[in-house]
Amino acid sequence: SEAMMAGKRGLIMGVANDHSIAWGIAQALASHGAELAFTYQGEAFGRRVKPLAESLGSNLVFPCDVEDTSTVDEVFASLADAWGSVDFVVHAVAFSDKSELKGRYADTTRDNFVRTMVISCFSFTEVARRAAAMMPAGGSLLTLTYSGATRVMPNYNVMGVAKAGLEASVRYLAADYGPQGIRVNAISAGPVRTLAGSGITDARRMYNFHKAHSPLRRATTIADVGGSAVYLLSPLSSGVTGEVHFVDSGYHVISMPRPETIRD
Ligand code: NAD
Repeated sequence: SEAMMAGKRGLIMGVANDHSIAWGIAQALASHGAELAFTYQGEAFGRRVKPLAESLGSNLVFPCDVEDTSTVDEVFASLADAWGSVDFVVHAVAFSDKSELKGRYADTTRDNFVRTMVISCFSFTEVARRAAAMMPAGGSLLTLTYSGATRVMPNYNVMGVAKAGLEASVRYLAADYGPQGIRVNAISAGPVRTLAGSGITDARRMYNFHKAHSPLRRATTIADVGGSAVYLLSPLSSGVTGEVHFVDSGYHVISMPRPETIRD
């Protein structure tokens, strides 16, 4: 319903532009009545994110680079000033050096491994701790993952290892914060054409394969993810925590492509 998120306030981390998964989630939440705040990474993205936020009636837009803990602290301090408490947080943040999103995982470097883990995995835990401290009446935390966490996707490499850690974090955080009425879940999205997605070598072939072989025979859209996010962030999912929910046109249930699509 219109009012499913009425009276709920939440932070959206990870809008880079209007193709971002976080933007699809923000639009869905706003259309269900949520009040939103946003973070952006660096002033170049800030110039894009501010008008997007404004179009959803938000003027709470804060800089945040999760590699710098002090900026994470500042975001939650600003949020405490503005709202006092928060009902939900969407974490849609990931990064790895493009040069390691190709070739063999085995060749990943220590520096990029650590950086990928800090930005794409640890940042959710760091954000969860600060958010939980502002959720006296409970809340809902959501992150974004990909099936490369549990199965090998060519070129996904160190990002798959980071997503495996992120999915495990979802389960541990769900256990830690469950007693406070805070739920923690992830959406595992199918391939979406975004800035981050285009960093993966041969992404175009990934999209095409997914479209051709998923049960719904279509790409995953940011609106698909947005709809499921509203469910996971709203009381509709009040009994759900520690879950990784696939929003991927059903791709993950398929083992082998249909025989007629395979050339002998
Ligand atoms: P995107 O490029 O639109 O968003 C990625 C965001 O991460 C950007 O807003 C960027 O500013 C932010 N970010 C990167 N490093 C950061 C840092 N140090 N500090 C703060 N923010 C930082 O791409 P997207 O595809 O919408 O990615 C959002 C999430 O969805 C990511 O976790 C991604 O792994 C995940 N995901 C994407 C796909 C896909 O196919 N695009 C599929 C499954 C999961």
